[in-house]
Amino acid sequence: MDIYTLYRNEHEYDDLNADSAVRHLSEAVRINTTSYMDTAKIDYPAFDELHRKLQEWYPAIMKQGEYREIDYSILIRIQGSDPSLKPALFMAHQDVVPVVQGTEKDWLHGPFSGDVADGYIWGRGTLDIKNMLIAELESMEYLLAHGRKLRRTVYLAFGQDEETVGTGAIQIARYLKEQQVELEYVLDEGGRVGSGDAFGADTAVGSIGMYEKGYADLKLSAESRGGHSSNPFNGTSLGALAKAIAAIVDHPLENVLPECAKETLRILTPYMHEGPFKEAVRDTEANEQEIIRLFLAHPDLNSQIHTTIAPTMISGGSQAGNVMPQHMEAVINFRLAPQDTDAGLLEHCRKLAGDDIKAEFIVANEASRQSRFDTEGFRSLQQVLSHYFGDIVFVPSVNTTATDARSYEEICDCCMRFGPFLEQEDIRAAGVHGTNERISVRAYLQGIRVLISMMELTCL
Ligand SMILES: [Zn+2]
Repeated sequence: MDIYTLYRNEHEYDDLNADSAVRHLSEAVRINTTSYMDTAKIDYPAFDELHRKLQEWYPAIMKQGEYREIDYSILIRIQGSDPSLKPALFMAHQDVVPVVQGTEKDWLHGPFSGDVADGYIWGRGTLDIKNMLIAELESMEYLLAHGRKLRRTVYLAFGQDEETVGTGAIQIARYLKEQQVELEYVLDEGGRVGSGDAFGADTAVGSIGMYEKGYADLKLSAESRGGHSSNPFNGTSLGALAKAIAAIVDHPLENVLPECAKETLRILTPYMHEGPFKEAVRDTEANEQEIIRLFLAHPDLNSQIHTTIAPTMISGGSQAGNVMPQHMEAVINFRLAPQDTDAGLLEHCRKLAGDDIKAEFIVANEASRQSRFDTEGFRSLQQVLSHYFGDIVFVPSVNTTATDARSYEEICDCCMRFGPFLEQEDIRAAGVHGTNERISVRAYLQGIRVLISMMELTCL
């Protein structure tokens, strides 16, 4: 799929200063705001420099808005005239992931060069996600500099550590909660565009992330006395672990068709030209079990309806074939569906593993809340995206990666994850967290049009 053939209405906002929008992203990329788990490695003065630049580049926002730093995160509030409208919040993060040591030489343009060459802006953060950060500021600045007046209050929120611990977004959300702010919608990075093949639908599908699955690592440990393998009376720790793992894998938790999936089926029905879904969606309610079966059978869809179970690690095996192992451990990774709690999952696994196996979580996070899509925020985003990307049908969906957006779910029932920067799939796949990260000027500017239009439609 050539993504650019799906672009529409690129002539709009022709007075947008594209050169300065490109220059600002390029300069932001040059400021190395890499996140590390080891905070001693983080270059905090670089964040200060980015903050100074942003204040310099966006005079209208700084004049009309309140700029605030919470730790190294940024929260900007631009007051709207109608207090009956709940505020909207546009977000992104300032930090980027490290460049893998030894790969620097593979970059055609340095990861922190910010070079503008061959129609691209090059460097770490151009896709994830300084593009969105700068574009949100460019969009708001464009509107305010044109004398447009906000009816709805708008927040711009940029965490400093999304790629590691996400405390920035948590602190911003806590601050807003203290101020008793309730948001109409949140727009964050995420989402994806792919084909509708899995549903037998003859269209490209844009998935707007409305929730995120949870994540848990369960450690199983088993003991056995070791010794010579000629008398394995009562079995070995390896055998016990293998049985426990098999029992857990063979007993998946409940399958539930999420509301987002039902809505996706409803939206895609007119595009379904063949296959089992076309039959089943004639009566989605009556055929729900059949639809669940179809999801389960499809490699791209099955993870949406249940908690996935993936045994990933095992250690402590014996070094010789005739020696029995002693202490052994295994790890099973789960991605929790919204219907499952971590406590329920642990109880389920302990029962299956039996008394001789110790089972405990190393880490466990439940799924985020499922955002509502019967909302002004979702309908507006769908409408704006369809205007700029023809022949893509936009649907509510699960987001496959974790984002900062979930930090806001206590004060917002419509947290949407969709970065409107649609880049060619090979460039995206290689660049995000990888080598030669770059964004075409074309994709970047089209994303800015989406954001200006979204702000115009919902906030003016
Ligand atoms: Zn990101």
